[in-house]
Amino acid sequence: MNYALAMIVLSGVSKRYESTVALHPLDLEVPAGKVTALIGPSGCGKSTVLRLLVGLVEPDSGEIWIHGERLVTESKRNLRRTLGYVIQDGGLFPHLTSRKNVMLMAEQLGREKEVDIDALASLTQFPLEALDRFPLELSGGQRQRVALMRALALQPTTLLLDEPLGALDPLIRADLQRDLKEIFARVKQTVVLVTHDMGEAAYLGDRIVLMREGQIVQQGTLKEFQEQPAEPFVTEFLRAQRTVVAI
Ligand code: ADP
Repeated sequence: MNYALAMIVLSGVSKRYESTVALHPLDLEVPAGKVTALIGPSGCGKSTVLRLLVGLVEPDSGEIWIHGERLVTESKRNLRRTLGYVIQDGGLFPHLTSRKNVMLMAEQLGREKEVDIDALASLTQFPLEALDRFPLELSGGQRQRVALMRALALQPTTLLLDEPLGALDPLIRADLQRDLKEIFARVKQTVVLVTHDMGEAAYLGDRIVLMREGQIVQQGTLKEFQEQPAEPFVTEFLRAQRTVVAI
């Protein structure tokens, strides 16, 4: 890959939590303006990759580059502001309305004027009248739409989504998958999406990165995984994911 086209580069990045190796030294290049889906069995290190990128955890070795700038203690705060991050349960503040949740960071930075909340609500198909409700007064799908609005509020160059639809029931999940696809196409941001669902990875991802036990097993498209599996695990993983049949 041409480095100039890579929005995010991990080079020899490893991470352990006490005695657990979460990531073996790993190289990953995330292309700009595309959706990269990180997939693999639970515990294979997917979330750790995102937590490293947002600076929630530090790598034990290696280098992380975001938009051509190395992620180190001094650059962390500024780089963090170029990233929108959504976690599985949305991580909304329960005591703040949807509107306040979306505006919070912008208010703290004195950048409220940059946030067009009506446009965000329209983009994420969130009903305007629900902006003044608290998270507990929303459905699970609506909460994730608020989390998405919050992540997009300050126009990040990169969106990091950690199982954003993981807690939703299948019908709502399908709705949001469709909407996410449209949102990705409209905003044209670099997206890293963590999922454990190959159907979702193939539907939303331009590229799929399959991980196992802290390592990358294969990168490419679903078709490449099916036609040229890098190792038997790839085929086993696909077989275990029955939703793939429906694609
Ligand atoms: P995934 O997102 O693929 O499910 P994670 O990145 O969350 O995987 O976790 C990778 C490994 O690191 C797992 O074995 C997990 O149990 C372990 N792990 C993650 N976070 C911690 C932590 N804070 N303390 C100890 N072990 C952790």
